Amino acid sequence: MSQSDNATAEKRFDRRDFLKAAGPIVALLAAWGADPDRVVEAVASKAPARANAALEAKPGDDPLIRMQAELQKALQKKPGERRWVMVIDLRKCVGCHACTISCVVENKLPPGVVYRPVFEEERGVYPNVTRMFTPRPCMQCDNPPCTPVCPVSATYKNEEGIVQVDYEQCIGCRACITACPYGARTSDFGYTYTEDTPVADGLIVGQNVADDYERAPNFEYGRQWAREKHESPIGNARKCHFCLHRIKEGMLPACVSTCIGRATLFGDANDPESLVSEMIHKPNVIRLKEELGTQPRVYYLI
Ligand code: SF4
Ligand code: SF4
Repeated sequence: MSQSDNATAEKRFDRRDFLKAAGPIVALLAAWGADPDRVVEAVASKAPARANAALEAKPGDDPLIRMQAELQKALQKKPGERRWVMVIDLRKCVGCHACTISCVVENKLPPGVVYRPVFEEERGVYPNVTRMFTPRPCMQCDNPPCTPVCPVSATYKNEEGIVQVDYEQCIGCRACITACPYGARTSDFGYTYTEDTPVADGLIVGQNVADDYERAPNFEYGRQWAREKHESPIGNARKCHFCLHRIKEGMLPACVSTCIGRATLFGDANDPESLVSEMIHKPNVIRLKEELGTQPRVYYLI
């Protein structure tokens, strides 16, 4: 087989593989009359657009409007003067996983990399049973055990207190993954959803577009990252960063915007009038594994 034959076979294999996973979605788009080329234009990761002009929240507004307005107010301060926190109301979480999926889409996460899982637990004995759902992003610990173990200082708290990973420095040793007591870090092994899912070629409209989406770069930490062999973030440790790139543009983290139960709140705890300040002073607030001294910035209402 010639080199070009090899390349063609490889291309075909990728496309076939993708169909099994993405076929129904692409077929649905086709059924709706969507132009596949335009769809990829819409989903390709680009630098986010700046949010609209300043908002003013009125009493009775959706909490999203209030949080958006408070976010814009916080952005007027110096970075070190704001304290980003997340509050998750476990009484309101319905376990829909919309936050998990919006995070996957926002950060274009590959298989095996999850920034915001939602854990499910069944409690009680039949017939008196109930289900609990616990979303678990990175806690953005104020005293993070994951940073001092990094041999190359690739992970650190930024001036706003968000724990970042410098993909260009990270050597993929996974020391931080082991050190995190919350299991909030995962390794990017470079997998794609198209792997090992052979499907007959040419059956689904928009197949090329789906292929392109798998290879499109993602946008994190202020820039695009090509998804090519051995290029960062492939091989790196990855974690939730509270959608830093969105915050900087005046937008709430994707999981907050998407939460159908308004169970996830976000804002500046240094603003005494903010919704999150109000919530973290409630008597029913907890933080996970506080006894470890990690000082998480994620609070739970129970
Ligand atoms: S939750 Fe884990 S990864 Fe996130 S800051 Fe804390 S120790 Fe680090
Ligand atoms: S995996 Fe990367 S970020 Fe984590 S400790 Fe190793 S080098 Fe540092």
